[in-house]
Amino acid sequence: MTIMSYDIKNQKLPSPFFFQLFYIFDLSNIMKTFVFASFIAAITVKLVVGQSPTSISGAPTYVPQNNFPWKNKYPTPLSVPEIKPEWASLVKNDTVPQAPVNIKGPDGSLLPPAPGATDTYCHWSFYQCLKPTDIASCQKGNWAVTYDDGPSPYSSKLYDYLKENNIKATFFVIGGQVVQYPDLLKRLYDDGHEIALHTWSHQLLTSQTNEEIIAELKWTELAVKEVIGVSPRLMRPPYGDIDDRVREVLKQLGFIPVIWSADTTDWKLASGAIDVATIQNTVKGWAANASTATQGGISLEHDITEKGVEIAIQSLPVLKGAYNLTLTSQCGNMSHEAIYKEHQDQSSSSPNSVSPNATPSNDGVDSFALMKTSLMLTAIALLVMLFL
Ligand SMILES: [Zn+2]
Repeated sequence: MTIMSYDIKNQKLPSPFFFQLFYIFDLSNIMKTFVFASFIAAITVKLVVGQSPTSISGAPTYVPQNNFPWKNKYPTPLSVPEIKPEWASLVKNDTVPQAPVNIKGPDGSLLPPAPGATDTYCHWSFYQCLKPTDIASCQKGNWAVTYDDGPSPYSSKLYDYLKENNIKATFFVIGGQVVQYPDLLKRLYDDGHEIALHTWSHQLLTSQTNEEIIAELKWTELAVKEVIGVSPRLMRPPYGDIDDRVREVLKQLGFIPVIWSADTTDWKLASGAIDVATIQNTVKGWAANASTATQGGISLEHDITEKGVEIAIQSLPVLKGAYNLTLTSQCGNMSHEAIYKEHQDQSSSSPNSVSPNATPSNDGVDSFALMKTSLMLTAIALLVMLFL
């Protein structure tokens, strides 16, 4: 109160800096508490603001329409994202094979290789070339079901079925979907499924530059990490489009590519190019081959449409009757825990054990809670001061 009358009498408002010095040296402990709380609040706000990603001029931003306490701003879902400057140095370009960046035709698909061209860079899309580091099939008698492109509003029905029947699967998620449906991703993780990446905007990766590939993966990794607290190592290139250049970029970023050995082609359901009965017969064929096939399989399905989810649910009893349903990690001879960067040294775990020990990080929540507490403390101190 002394300060206010002093200020008014002299018709001269002190600067915030002198205002605070005046408190510290001349007033009561309550006043000092207020000043201290102000400092804490200011420092906390600075820390939280400091966690924001570097803004990129022209980069689109998206504010998700939900209550998830995001601490980062993300590119618009399915837009081609820009690289954050600090990610560029993660890949040493001079050590990446100089495979040409493939050109897309007017319909968005890759232009086919010239007649007589050889497969210099082990391109899967054109030549189905695989490297030993690619996970593409499973041990004999084992089968991993995988679902791409979600999470989506249709996914919950599949999640419910998997839970009711105690089946674990691998989900290759799109970053743009994750920021729209973080609650669904969280549920997947909490239910014990494997979370893997499927890029931000679903591009043909051999048609992208090294920097564009980095942006696709790192934005998706960042969003997934923010929701479940861990960073997946498994990734699936959209359309299986991978060559040695893409492989090396992925390797330097810490990712392991996963293709598939069995495709339901359920993505054709939407256009009517395939019907449910045909897919059912395809899956029955996989089951019928279980005893004679030299190896097990990894199937590709999608949980992005209602029909896709329905056929996925119908397929599960058929596959379960013929194979040991397992996880992609086991197909790749990894422990379940080792599919996340934060746990990749835990290789001694049983390959088939599903452990909920990966406690999601609450970094963002903690920061905001701390800021709120500090601001509340400041407000209380101010009220006490006013009523004295
Ligand atoms: Zn896809």
